[in-house]
Amino acid sequence: MPVERLICDVAVVGAGPAGLAASLAAAAAGTEVICVDQFPRAGGQYHMQPNAPDTPFAKTEQVQQGLQAIRACEAADVRFLTGAEVFWAEPPKSSGEHFNLYIQRDGRAIIVEAKTLVAASGAMERPMPFPGWTLPGVIGAGAAQRLLKTSGAACALPFKGKTVLAGTGPFLLAVASTFAKAGQKIDHFVEMQPAAPLKKARAMLRHPLRLPDAVALLRDLSRTGAQRHMGAIITRAIGTSKIETVEIAPLGPDGAPDLRRAVLVEGVGALCIGYGFQPVIDLTTALGASHSYDLALGGWHCTTDALSCATSLPRLYAAGEVTGLGGANPARLSGQLAGLHAAAFCQGKNPERNGTATQLATKLLAFRAFAATLAQLYPMPERFPLPLVGDEVVCRCEDVTLAEIKTAIADGAHENFAVKMWTRAGMGLCQGRNCGAGIAAALAESDIDPITAGYNRSHFPLRPVSTCIATAAFASSSEAKA
Ligand SMILES: Cc1cc2nc3c(=O)[nH]c(=O)nc-3n(C[C@H](O)[C@H](O)[C@H](O)COP(=O)(O)OP(=O)(O)OC[C@H]3O[C@@H](n4cnc5c(N)ncnc54)[C@H](O)[C@@H]3O)c2cc1C
Repeated sequence: MPVERLICDVAVVGAGPAGLAASLAAAAAGTEVICVDQFPRAGGQYHMQPNAPDTPFAKTEQVQQGLQAIRACEAADVRFLTGAEVFWAEPPKSSGEHFNLYIQRDGRAIIVEAKTLVAASGAMERPMPFPGWTLPGVIGAGAAQRLLKTSGAACALPFKGKTVLAGTGPFLLAVASTFAKAGQKIDHFVEMQPAAPLKKARAMLRHPLRLPDAVALLRDLSRTGAQRHMGAIITRAIGTSKIETVEIAPLGPDGAPDLRRAVLVEGVGALCIGYGFQPVIDLTTALGASHSYDLALGGWHCTTDALSCATSLPRLYAAGEVTGLGGANPARLSGQLAGLHAAAFCQGKNPERNGTATQLATKLLAFRAFAATLAQLYPMPERFPLPLVGDEVVCRCEDVTLAEIKTAIADGAHENFAVKMWTRAGMGLCQGRNCGAGIAAALAESDIDPITAGYNRSHFPLRPVSTCIATAAFASSSEAKA
């Protein structure tokens, strides 16, 4: 199989707000930039580009801003590789060597060699197991949003029956807004946090510029016609071959679901559920960069220098939500910082001299303050939101149940990696992306603190890849090195 080899100064993985800003900053500084993204179009999660011009999303600010950023990158000669998945990466082993990115695209292998690398791999949903979570029709809230945004003029979920949107966090409101813009109804909206309007109003008053957005989101939720259940959770999804019924229970003063007051909703076609996001750290852990833990930032995230976005690994920069959750604005600013510094490294310059980096870093801090307020209003559950009996499947790829994971923990597997070795949970196709939060919750329930539990350092391959592509890529790489 022929392998394409591309060489650049700065490679950027991820074409979301962070990756686009990094690419533009590095290209504008005069370096050759390649920006890689697995999605068919650049834009990432926030600037997700619709695949049909006649959807109601084509004219939204998020899409239009993204389009402008993509065009600016193209005008600055950034080379985009979209529909291209990085399945492995190697750091330089000496100062004369480059980063090697191993990529699969359209059934072919591509190797990108880069002097510096910006990891802008973003965040992903944080799936939390609960009884019935593997039934067809139970999907991530983010997946529901993506389906609506990319389903063209139809703008509907492919499920018949009632729609329930549940979980916790401001993102649920963003998803409700997507339903409203798509002209779709939501039957029930279930938020774990109590309504607490005064607490929320007081917190939002500290960020007056964001108030109009908050009001618009609440108005959109009303437009969906959803019946609201605040301070409540989904305790069960019930069905035979697919979801049919959900059980919603209010949370009592002790935080546990009060099953005596639970209600059953029948005729459900889709349960869209989200318990927040987690940074996508597979690339940065595989490269061996340092990571830190902060639940308010989504848990484990890549550690960076506030001013330069440099990681602990020389010539590797990280930007956006891989460095901690914060939203599109901090992602964009950190992307710009990372791009400037990556380019400056290639050119042997110091970008801090003109003060741009300091100004960007100061703005970044202000945006992060808003993200911190949201994290306080909607704390992510570290443990399972409801007590589980043990027969729930946590790792769907390797069919590992909670009971098996608990046995391993009781036998001494007190680290994420040990649980993986003991049970195979996290060793399958998704490489722990879907079960990582569940395993972490099981360790937390056994009172093992998250720092001790650690994170799953990724191993080859980061993403499923055919042996053919991987063999061809590695053979080509060895030849080039020889
Ligand atoms: C599912 C989801 C939905 C969201 N919806 C909203 C919303 O409606 N409103 C809102 O304000 N915020 C939303 N957010 C948050 C918002 O998207 C982020 O704040 C912002 O996009 C972060 O920008 P980023 O550049 O760091 O990451 P992203 O925008 O997530 O971009 C990261 C990119 O990296 C790519 N990538 C990762 N790994 C690889 C790899 N190995 N190979 C190739 N490509 C790779 C991904 O394809 C992705 O496009 C959402 C987040 C998620 C996860």
